Amino acid sequence: MTAPVRVTIWNEYHAEQVVEASKRLYPDGMHQVIADHLANQGFKTRTATLEQPEHGLTEDVLNNTDVLTWWGHLRHADVDSTIVDRVQRRVLGGMGLIVLHSGHESKIFQRLMGTSCDLKWREANEKERVWVTNPGHSITKGLGAFFEIPGEEMYGEPFIVPEPDELVFISWFEGGEVFRSGCCYKRGNGKIFYFRPGHETYPTYYQSEVMQVMTNAVLWAAPSEGASIPGERNHIVPLEPINLG
Ligand code: ZN
Repeated sequence: MTAPVRVTIWNEYHAEQVVEASKRLYPDGMHQVIADHLANQGFKTRTATLEQPEHGLTEDVLNNTDVLTWWGHLRHADVDSTIVDRVQRRVLGGMGLIVLHSGHESKIFQRLMGTSCDLKWREANEKERVWVTNPGHSITKGLGAFFEIPGEEMYGEPFIVPEPDELVFISWFEGGEVFRSGCCYKRGNGKIFYFRPGHETYPTYYQSEVMQVMTNAVLWAAPSEGASIPGERNHIVPLEPINLG
């Protein structure tokens, strides 16, 4: 049996402590709901939040993390850049990263994308229809042609990110906009998945299809064997003698 995938669920954990609607929905924080779900799926989970020393992301924690999930919104600026550097190094070395919802503007996502990651938005509790654009992809496993979230914040195009390596979801919103809701990237040896839903005042993280995507995405983003090759930057000798004659 292979060892369970080790997932660290990171959350700035701000709205759930100060916004009434978020407190009611997620009394222990969104990270706890996500962690409980993933633990039930057999993953080895831990949580980390902004207020902890080193934001809970010490070298030791990251070195023992296969996949990191990231939720942030109002406090992106409070994330220490040395921790961003550290997370980036781990992603390039093979750790998976799942960036959720308003994490699109986090320092780590902007760093890894190299763009502003801007988008259009509106908070009107409108219906979101998430279309599967890549039915054979492992992140869409167990879903039909689409699923609907009864009320969500709208994110609209243009989404200022590099062209995804693979696009697995496009959302349509009741107000008319569309958005690339499931974007896959590879940076160095690490796999990155951006997944749009998850506004803090809606019960999105209690919806089964959304959590199915989280499970699928963790499995997809987990490092493949050999993804991180020690010493790959080292000088090496040739396999055969080189004839300069
Ligand atoms: Zn939001």
